Amino acid sequence: MSRVFNFSAGPAVLPEEVLKEAAEEMMDYRGCGMSVMEMSHRSKMFQTIIGEAEADLRELMGIPDNYKVLFLQGGASQQFAMIPMNLFKNRVGDFIITGQWAKKAYQEASLYGKANAVASSADKTFSYIPDVSDLPISEDADYVYICENNTIYGTKYKTLPDTKGKTLVADLSSCFLSEPVDVSKYGLIFAGAQKNVGPAGVVIVIIREDLISEEVLPGTPTMLRYKTHADAVSLYNTPPAYGIYICGKVFQWLKKLGGLNAMKEINEKKAALLYDFLDQSKLFKGTVVKEDRSLMNVPFITGDEALDELFVKESRAAGFENLKGHRTVGGMRASIYNAMPTEGVEKLVAFMKDFEEKHAK
Ligand code: PMP
Repeated sequence: MSRVFNFSAGPAVLPEEVLKEAAEEMMDYRGCGMSVMEMSHRSKMFQTIIGEAEADLRELMGIPDNYKVLFLQGGASQQFAMIPMNLFKNRVGDFIITGQWAKKAYQEASLYGKANAVASSADKTFSYIPDVSDLPISEDADYVYICENNTIYGTKYKTLPDTKGKTLVADLSSCFLSEPVDVSKYGLIFAGAQKNVGPAGVVIVIIREDLISEEVLPGTPTMLRYKTHADAVSLYNTPPAYGIYICGKVFQWLKKLGGLNAMKEINEKKAALLYDFLDQSKLFKGTVVKEDRSLMNVPFITGDEALDELFVKESRAAGFENLKGHRTVGGMRASIYNAMPTEGVEKLVAFMKDFEEKHAK
């Protein structure tokens, strides 16, 4: 068996320990004679799996009791619609546009009401986070929306916006569980699982109870109401059961590691290896302003497209997969999620140094 260092932005690398355990349990999960994939979601066995997953996530993030944790489907993109369908009362949302995912959420919300772009970093190709200390928040805004870590552009909010008392809604897909979070500052957090926590097909929603109500936009399908899933504890219909099981294993892996403070420390050291190299490199350059750099997604360029292409090709041959930047921005991007071993980043930096020696002018 040989495994590559996978720098994909998602679906992404998962902890080897988790994959091994899942492999061991594949044919016969804890003596029940079947895999988790084949098991009824109403069985006691699965109730325990989902119950423990939720309890572990609550413990890891310190989720207050007045928040529900929902394991849903439809990807992070479905939340772009579910959020306005459920949270629009005045049908007004204020959006901070820091990249494509925030823009998509903004466009989707505008199908249901008034979506205002209250700040944007589009003027500099989303290479920074705008000043969010004094935004023109709308009087009647139902919520303020952010994409906290911008997967494509590699930026991350270091301080949350002043929402002037309005509910904060945040897409944490690409930084979920990478560091501690004060859940009480948000009304709703959501994250697609396929970056830091598990296979694609699960999206985790953490929502304050007072935001869950029967009062939704007319025509909102039953499946797209938070209340449906909150009332049924994520078992209204068949949930993405195998995905939830893997998420649960990742939560346990994180707990064993020492929780989110320990994870953050590892992530900071790992990211510093790459950023420190980029900052002194004669060939490579990071594309994000220093103070807004993400710990998870690190975009960089050589400034020469042909050389970028050669780097992606040669790095691939050397066992580093998925270093090509997003199709819309080009260049390179190393996604170094929780499960990327430090060794992977060390080896990548060594490879970049070699490449630089050969190609720097
Ligand atoms: N938000 C962010 C921050 C993302 O990075 C992505 C996917 N890369 C999405 C939303 C969309 O996720 P999905 O494909 O699960 O709909």
